[in-house]
Amino acid sequence: KYIFITGGVVSSLGKGITAASIGLILKTMGFRVGMLKIDPYLNVDPGTMSPYQHGEVFVTKDGAETDLDIGHYERFLNEELDRNSNLTSGQLYAELIEKERRGDYLGKTVQVVPHFTNLIKEKIRNVGKNKDITIVEIGGTVGDIEGLPFIEAIRQLRYEEGKENTLFIHISLVPYIKAVDEIKTKPTQHSVIKLRELGIKPDILICRCERKLGEEEKNKLSIFCDVEKEAVIEEIDVGENIYKIPVLLENQGLSKLIEKYLGIKRLVELNFLKKWNKVISQYENFKNKVTIGIAGKYTIVKDAYKSIKEALLHAGFSEKVKIDIKYIDTEKKNIEKDLKVLDAVIVPGGFGERGIEGKMKVARFAREKKLPLLGICLGMQISLIEMAKSWGLKEANSEEFDPESPFPVIISMPEQKAVKNLGGTMRLGEYTCKISKNTLTYSLYKKTLIRERHRHRYEFNNRFKKFFEKNGCIFSGINPERNLVEIVELKNHPFFILTQFHPEFKSRPLKPHPLFRGLVKMAKKRK
Ligand code: GLN
Repeated sequence: KYIFITGGVVSSLGKGITAASIGLILKTMGFRVGMLKIDPYLNVDPGTMSPYQHGEVFVTKDGAETDLDIGHYERFLNEELDRNSNLTSGQLYAELIEKERRGDYLGKTVQVVPHFTNLIKEKIRNVGKNKDITIVEIGGTVGDIEGLPFIEAIRQLRYEEGKENTLFIHISLVPYIKAVDEIKTKPTQHSVIKLRELGIKPDILICRCERKLGEEEKNKLSIFCDVEKEAVIEEIDVGENIYKIPVLLENQGLSKLIEKYLGIKRLVELNFLKKWNKVISQYENFKNKVTIGIAGKYTIVKDAYKSIKEALLHAGFSEKVKIDIKYIDTEKKNIEKDLKVLDAVIVPGGFGERGIEGKMKVARFAREKKLPLLGICLGMQISLIEMAKSWGLKEANSEEFDPESPFPVIISMPEQKAVKNLGGTMRLGEYTCKISKNTLTYSLYKKTLIRERHRHRYEFNNRFKKFFEKNGCIFSGINPERNLVEIVELKNHPFFILTQFHPEFKSRPLKPHPLFRGLVKMAKKRK
């Protein structure tokens, strides 16, 4: 069975979070759930897009660069997804054209309908194999030109799979207009009109709103959008703690509605959702708060550091402390003042030279003032450059920023030298890392072999290992296959951990990542 999720009126409605929440509810009912995000843009994947355009790039275990919604799916369902969980027009058209060149369509005119839509349906059915229910989220907003073939494909799927096997959920904006003190249903009405024009009548309407909807608004939406009144569901803004959404939806009877429309019965009661709710709903009542900085150049786009932000919140759940995130703009002149209020800081990943001076200042401040620091990927590389400079190698740098540096402490990975295409060619996905005992890292992970996800072209230059060790660094995590440095920590510092990988991708609300938990714990202590 399939649940198709479309969006109305505007983007950024949190469709991914809603899809993930529905996935969690279905999983809790005992079903095997498939998840698929379709992005109608023409890029093959978001790997080549700027965070300003797209927010974070989420990396799966098998090394796909995917949409950040895949991160929500993984976190809510506590499952590891793979490259099949994210489809783009770019990928599909590339495959279609390849087939055409091979002669697969010999004699035919290749068209959007049926050839492109057939390919879309094939991919959707593929994700649905061995699953009871597959949730398919169509990115963008109904009416977008790029989205049309996908809407057409899901329309055909209802026809082919039958009404009892397909469910359409439309997520739309129901704004509150201050000037007249009224909630407006018209934009959603129009979005549903657009959807019906394309042959789809939504079964369930999820209304994103700032204010609670009254009976009058619900009636209006039900009548004008031709949706049963009980199927008009409100999804009011919840603030930072998005993990409240599954319960918010379920409290309005979502699981019963899905049972009714898809003709299914839950296999187990929703006990897990109660457990989930217990952990995440206490958050607002925590008395203590820690202030944690994220020092990067994409501070105006909140989505750029999505997984990091979520990982901190997960650690907050476990450490019973509220997390106040302060974004530190590393392009600003006087950042010292911003750093003084922090209880811990994260220097995240990134690309390119802009903002690295500021990142270096942050790393130095944390090192000298014993502020707990977690440096991730570029954050690790910058921190090491900063240390090398401070310890006498004035011209130390990364080959990314200065290929001529006499002290290249960060170098291009050998396989990267031959790379011509920038898309999908970094060191991507999960690799093993061996942790040395008697290190802070070991005390956090409590095991010697871990797997973490990567996304980078540059690495630490082992030629400088002795130099750093002599000055107080411990290389606490190494990739055993290739002897690559994966984790560095600093002696005589309460918490200074640098990782070449991205730990944030593996954190879960009920199972925070050990490094984030460690950082938050230390922040609490410092405070
Ligand atoms: N730009 C660096 C590299 O490619 C770091 C990448 C990152 O932070 N994800 O190695």
